[in-house]
Amino acid sequence: MLIVMEHSATQQQIETVLQAVKRLGFAPQPIPGQNRVAIGVLGNQSYVDEEPFRDLPGIQELIHVTKPYKLVSRDFHPSDSVVTVGGARVGWGLEPVIIAGPCTVESREQVRVTAQSVKTAGAGILRGGAFKPRTGPHTFQGLGYEGLEYLAEAGREVGLPIVTEVMRIDQLDRVAAVADCLQIGARNMQNFDLLKEVGRAGKPVMLKRGMSATLEEFLAAAEYIVLEGNANVILCERGIRTFERALRNTLDLGVVPYLRQVTHLPVIVDPSHALGRRDLVIPMAKAAVVVGAAGVMVEVHPNPAEALCDGPQSLDPAGFTQLMRELRVAVAARIPSA
Ligand code: PEP
Ligand code: MN
Repeated sequence: MLIVMEHSATQQQIETVLQAVKRLGFAPQPIPGQNRVAIGVLGNQSYVDEEPFRDLPGIQELIHVTKPYKLVSRDFHPSDSVVTVGGARVGWGLEPVIIAGPCTVESREQVRVTAQSVKTAGAGILRGGAFKPRTGPHTFQGLGYEGLEYLAEAGREVGLPIVTEVMRIDQLDRVAAVADCLQIGARNMQNFDLLKEVGRAGKPVMLKRGMSATLEEFLAAAEYIVLEGNANVILCERGIRTFERALRNTLDLGVVPYLRQVTHLPVIVDPSHALGRRDLVIPMAKAAVVVGAAGVMVEVHPNPAEALCDGPQSLDPAGFTQLMRELRVAVAARIPSA
C-alpha cells in the first residue's frame, strides 16, 4: 500500500503514520516528493487493512498495490486451473461444458424427463435447485431435501454429475453428500461464513457473481473458498443489476476475456438468469462461447409454460437441442486467444 500525505501534513502527522505502519508489523518507507510525502508500506504478504489509517489526520489517499485476492490470481498461479465435476472437465481453452436442467426441481418426473433430454442433447452436467433463494417469500421455495434426492436420482440414472445450490451452512453436509458441485447463488456471494465452510467441504464449487458485485469483490469471494484449501472453484457470470430495465439483468460478457487475464479459475456464463428471456438465451450462450467461456449454464424445463420458477427464461427440450447444435458452430468460431 502507498499512503499519500496531504501537502500540508505536519512532521508530527507523518511520524504518527510511520508508527501506525510499524505497529502492524510492516516497514514504512517515506518517499519525499516535490509537494508531498508518500509512505510506502513494505513487508506485507497480502492486502493491508485500511482501518488503522482511516482516522489519522494528514492522509490524502490510500492506494492499494496488493489486491484483496492472491490465490485466485494469475500472478500467483499462472497456468489454467481445470475443475473436474464428475466426468466433466471445466477450464479455459477446453471444450465448453454445458450445464442444463430446471431452475427448480418440481417433481421426480420433471427432473427425470429433463435429465434424459439434456443428456441426449449433449449436456455435461445436470443442474436443478432444491433450495431456492426466491425474491419473494410467497413464491415456491423448492422441495428441499426431497428435491435433492430426485435430482441425485435423475443424475445417476442418465450418468450426469449434478450441481445444486446450498444456501445455508446447516444444509452443507447433506448437500455435499450427493452433489458433485456446490452452487453458491448470487445472493450469497458475500456470505463469508458460508464461503469458508463450502471451502472445507471437499467438493468443487460454482460461485455465482453477486448482482451488484464488482469483479474485485467476486474474486475476493472466490479467494475465501480457495484459502480453505479448495482450489476447485468455477466462477459464473449471471448478469448484474444496472440502470437498464428492459432485461432481467445486464449480461457483462466483457468479464470473460478480462477474467481470463486476471485469474486461473474457469469462468462460465449463465445467460438464462442474465437475460430472463428464452429467445435471447441461444444467441448470448453462443457469444459467451465465442469470447472464451469455459462453459454455459442454462435452464431447461419439459414444459416451460407450467414451470413453477423462471419459466420465461427456460428452454424446452427442443430449444436445448437447438442450442447444442448452434454451440458447435460457436466453438469453431472461438477467437484464437479465447
Ligand atoms: C440459480 O442458478 O438457480 C439461481 C438462483 O441463480 P442466481 O443465484 O444467479 O440468481
Ligand atoms: Mn432460475
